[in-house]
Amino acid sequence: MHTRAHDEALTEMRGDKLIVRGMRVKADRLAATGICDVVEFTKDPKGIILHGREGKWSPRPVEYKRGKEKNDHSDELQLCGQAICLEEMLCCRIETGDLFYGETHRRTLVEFTPELRQMVVNAFTEMNELFNKGYTPKVHMNKLCQSCSLKDICVPEVEQKSVKEYFINSLKNG
Ligand code: SF4
Repeated sequence: MHTRAHDEALTEMRGDKLIVRGMRVKADRLAATGICDVVEFTKDPKGIILHGREGKWSPRPVEYKRGKEKNDHSDELQLCGQAICLEEMLCCRIETGDLFYGETHRRTLVEFTPELRQMVVNAFTEMNELFNKGYTPKVHMNKLCQSCSLKDICVPEVEQKSVKEYFINSLKNG
């Protein structure tokens, strides 16, 4: 499901909706880049102009998840981050998006409230501050790791005191 959502060749019309998969996005105000699973553009006289398309369109991000709804806000934050990127790129306002869960086959509407937007900004501010300081926080195994797409990069099960120590040990051990 996720592979299909990321097939960059897939752009299709469904009724009055233009479905764009694997759309690359960025927001300078967040210093963030990424890829949206799906952005749906619906014909809307109050929408934006799209190059090479007639009429006006309203964008809406849709993110696909294999599992079911989580008990935290991580999926909503990711989707809201995508909306902020799209807003900056397309000079528009996006009020809602959707999360689609493969396990439950449910589509959940997410409102991009001022509170959710602020949480996204705060998370990126903190992340960028850490990045600029060159500081990599230590990670700890937690219940989210099993289903985390970063697991193979993050390797949280490897107990290391620091990144420096990880590199020194890796070089020593060949
Ligand atoms: S694998 Fe790393 S990034 Fe993913 S949840 Fe675990 S600690 Fe966080």
